[in-house]
Amino acid sequence: MRTVRFTASSSAQPAHGLLESDQITPLTAAPWAGGRPVGNPIPREQAILLAPVEPTKIVCVGRNYRDHIEEMGFEIPTIPSLFYKPLTTILDPGGDVILPPTSLSTHVEHEAELAVVIGSKCRNLTSENAVDAIFGITCANDVTSRDLPPRDGNTTRAKSFDTYCPIGPWIETDLDLAAGVQVRCTVNGEVRQDGNTQQLVFDVARILELVTQVMTLAPGDVVLTGSPGGTGPLTPGDRVEIEVAGIGPLVHGVRAGG
Ligand code: MG
Repeated sequence: MRTVRFTASSSAQPAHGLLESDQITPLTAAPWAGGRPVGNPIPREQAILLAPVEPTKIVCVGRNYRDHIEEMGFEIPTIPSLFYKPLTTILDPGGDVILPPTSLSTHVEHEAELAVVIGSKCRNLTSENAVDAIFGITCANDVTSRDLPPRDGNTTRAKSFDTYCPIGPWIETDLDLAAGVQVRCTVNGEVRQDGNTQQLVFDVARILELVTQVMTLAPGDVVLTGSPGGTGPLTPGDRVEIEVAGIGPLVHGVRAGG
């Protein structure tokens, strides 16, 4: 099953929907909150797709693909580096990442990531039962100001500018993660990242176990699982396409800020 959030026009209320054969059937509520199909399907091309989630938090894992850890010159971690992105980073598919003023940051990079959408309230998951808490998988870009962490001593500003989390375009609920899935990013048609979740230091189940040792995850919450090697700079006018296991592409632009 594929689920989306959409509006039928720029003035219509956003709704969740089921995406089937290029038709969207509206749902009465979020699919993880028992939403049921209602009304007539509309053609996908008549809908404006929105970020498919409305999370209470976006939890992220840094340094989780072996090739990205090597290219950054870090040690393989024994506990995951967790951080947040504020909800104001969320960018709808087809939107533009707005680069910060150059007085704040001059080196912004893409990080294509597999995003887990949580399906049920959960705490203290184990690696064995964690997949039961997953609603589905989508694509995200953990956009990062690479020049800020060395100055700041943390990643808060680096990860948090408005628009720094493009996400979507749909959630796939039937993806089998066990065999490893491909995470791919192109910029202006050039392949920058083409990794596989088999490279993960902490796999998806282990990440959910470690995150829920600390905090409750709510339905619709998002967990970004790290980025494969090949992260690179973004400049105004770039067109970014991210694909995770056939989901997407999530497409967004890039433009200069004030
Ligand atoms: Mg990342």
